[in-house]
Amino acid sequence: MKEKIGKLSAWTVVVFFAALGFYAALGYVAVSSVASANSLEAERIMSESVSEISEVINALTDKSRELSELIVQTDNEARHFENYAHILFKDTMVLNVLLAPDGVVTQAYPSAENEAAIGIDFFVPGAENPEAVRARETKGIVFSDPFNAVNGEAAIIARYPVYISSEEGAETFWGLLSMSLKYNEITERAGFNYFGDMNLAYEIFLKDGATGEEKVIISGGKAYDKASYSKKDFMEKHLPISSEGWYFRVMPIKRWYTYPITWVTAAISIIFSLAMAYIVQSNYTHSKVKKQLEEMANTDPLLGIYNRRFFMEAAKMHAARSARIGTLSYIAIFDLDHFKYINDEFTHLAGDKVLIDVAEKVKGMLRQYDIFARYGGEEFIILVSDINEPDAKNCIERIRQEIHNMVVEYETQKISVTASFGVSPLNKEINLENSLKFADTALYAAKEAGRNRVVFHEEEGGLNSPALHE
Ligand code: GH3
Ligand code: MG
Ligand code: MG
Repeated sequence: MKEKIGKLSAWTVVVFFAALGFYAALGYVAVSSVASANSLEAERIMSESVSEISEVINALTDKSRELSELIVQTDNEARHFENYAHILFKDTMVLNVLLAPDGVVTQAYPSAENEAAIGIDFFVPGAENPEAVRARETKGIVFSDPFNAVNGEAAIIARYPVYISSEEGAETFWGLLSMSLKYNEITERAGFNYFGDMNLAYEIFLKDGATGEEKVIISGGKAYDKASYSKKDFMEKHLPISSEGWYFRVMPIKRWYTYPITWVTAAISIIFSLAMAYIVQSNYTHSKVKKQLEEMANTDPLLGIYNRRFFMEAAKMHAARSARIGTLSYIAIFDLDHFKYINDEFTHLAGDKVLIDVAEKVKGMLRQYDIFARYGGEEFIILVSDINEPDAKNCIERIRQEIHNMVVEYETQKISVTASFGVSPLNKEINLENSLKFADTALYAAKEAGRNRVVFHEEEGGLNSPALHE
């Protein structure tokens, strides 16, 4: 009765967390399937990019080789460099081509815009161009870091080493072909923009076979903090390009919390879980209120024991059952003696305290399946169920004795109290109505006989001779 209605029921909490767990699992499945679909898609695009970029680089290498063959083997003085370069490098990707026998630039294409390059020496002792040196050493095409060319466009330089084979098969370094390439065009052709759109970062890097050191040549996409990723977060592919260890790597920057579906499922989970918890809670509150109202309707507010209404309902049910099965029970009605005197002498509040103490005392003496109620005023009623006659007599007599022995303390006063009892059997022969009537008559007789006593209704006519207790 005193419990707060607003309290959360344990079920509400259980249902909330169970629902939350369920939806979280659902969300996890949704997010990871979206993520794996995304990474599959990224992997597919990556494979495409790998073949694109390989094609771009291989084509460049092939063209460089053709050009070097034309110039070095057919046209040794490179008089027609410009014509050949024009034909072979009609590629939109190429910004310029430099011819550098022994590493010194002698010709440039297109010549008009690249006069300044003539005379540059890639192998000035102490200030060698690193890509030129590496190209010469590895005998393969080498790319520079991207940089901003004179026209403001991002560019990357490819150094192609030209070797002459002697008849005996020995190879001698002839010089370099150097090509400036449009960086953006390369990335576009390779489909790299896609990775940026997908919130992914990408890198093309060279791995030194001996040291494992990585040199990033092309990178882009979404900026990311490399330190926060482990190797297994990366998708890496080897680029099938001649001569060096080329790799292509994609970093799936898109973490679970970056997917809108994560937050949508989280929001749905919370809303649904709250809704389910709300339903459970309101059900709980509803049944609790109902129970409290029922309790209120059945209980005496002052004494906290059952009231007459409840007693009558319960007794009716019990009587029907005992008539059917044929058991014996007893109805005992007792009334406090000279209660008016107690009220007058010690105040009405003292009278209340007497009633409370008597109710508590009697309640403590009864069995769980007996029914004890306030019958009205200072009158009480007990249904002593399924009991034989001697035990019933014994039980009621003990109750009378206990009340008689009580000393009720109210403020500084000590109050004694007694009660008179009228008892009737309740069985197949005596129904509830008659039993109540007989108990009442017996109570009247007990009062008449001097109070503080128990009078039993006797079937064979007349009342038993009441025992005197004074
Ligand atoms: P007896 O039964 O022995 O014949 O005498 P009595 O003084 O008890 O007489 P009666 O039954 O007529 O009086 C009952 C009194 O109990 C009257 C009423 O004021 C008082 N009473 C009834 N209900 C309460 C209650 O809840 N609190 C208090 N303090 N008094 C009550
Ligand atoms: Mg009385
Ligand atoms: Mg009375």
